[in-house]
Amino acid sequence: MSNLQEHKGVWVFCEQRAGELTSTSLELISEARKLADDLNTEVCGILLGNNVEGLAKDLCGHGADRVILCDDARLEVYTTDAYTKVICDIAKEQKPDILLIGATNIGRDLGPRVAARLETGLTADCTGLAIEAERKIILQTRPAFGGNLMATIICPRTKPQMSTVRPGVMKKSEFDATRPLVVEKPAFELADSDLRTKVLEVVKATKEIVNLAEAEIIVSGGRGTGGVEGFKLVTELAKALGGTVGASRAAVDEGYIGHDHQVGQTGQTVRPRIYIACGISGAIQHKAGMANSECIIAINKNPDAPIFEVADYGICGDLFKVIPMMIEQAKK
Ligand code: FAD
Repeated sequence: MSNLQEHKGVWVFCEQRAGELTSTSLELISEARKLADDLNTEVCGILLGNNVEGLAKDLCGHGADRVILCDDARLEVYTTDAYTKVICDIAKEQKPDILLIGATNIGRDLGPRVAARLETGLTADCTGLAIEAERKIILQTRPAFGGNLMATIICPRTKPQMSTVRPGVMKKSEFDATRPLVVEKPAFELADSDLRTKVLEVVKATKEIVNLAEAEIIVSGGRGTGGVEGFKLVTELAKALGGTVGASRAAVDEGYIGHDHQVGQTGQTVRPRIYIACGISGAIQHKAGMANSECIIAINKNPDAPIFEVADYGICGDLFKVIPMMIEQAKK
């Protein structure tokens, strides 16, 4: 095991797809900046791809002190073998203290592989990160036991301390054009024998993707909408406000709408400017995915519904009366 004191810096795996950074990468760079400031250390983005140097500007502008760039045709599309090999070789050499990865499909594949190869721990699907002042270690918080409690996990004996973080959980900072652009291109080795898989073709999903994570306005419906017909009111309000439709798990399980609209612990984490919850009780697993919204408006006929505990504005009433009035106002 290497000397833990040698490990320095907060690293972020900066995921790009088809030459575009995922929003999670910028969210993590912004969060890494705060953690690094608490540790008085640097933020380093690790960026892999083919002809992706142009992305480094965004990473530095959002908080990275330097970007490690690995540009190679064999890194154009993500493969577990190639990305793991390159990241681990560089991490072994440069010894980061913390390594953050987005809990996207790619991140969930990459994170455990990298952690195993670096012989360290990984906390998956974190919803909160902080630095413990005394030991200067990272406190990684995530839902546990079916979301019934939040567990804070530490990794004090091995480094890097690794977390995957759900998209939409951390807030992206403002771009600062005055921050210096620092790009390093370390040599790395990648032999054809390292690559056991080959991507022949990338096929885009034919279905329209519901982008809740980046939506500014979300109107979500729950079991209280009573069925597919009732749920149409939610869709209509979302349309009138130029927003996106979300749902509770109960609404999804009942078949009112598809799973890709689900908000919460087993759905998507969202952080819109406005979140309108219609006929949603506010179970802990639902709140885990939306409590960080800037402004929460709840419509529920039960004055004791837990959703009112996180709501900025609560409308205690029948959604079948309230939503049509809101639609009328929105259309005006
Ligand atoms: P209910 O709890 O049944 O609430 C319906 C609400 O509608 C009530 O508060 C009622 O007062 C109100 N209402 C009824 N009629 C009207 C009306 N006419 N006008 C106004 N209000 C009305 N849930 C999620 O949402 N997302 C998740 O990702 C998720 N993950 C989970 C993971 C695990 C491991 C587990 C165990 C559970 C998970 N759940 C999740 C389920 C969660 O515990 C709740 O069961 C679910 O959120 C309830 O959905 P709901 O609020 O729509 O329904």
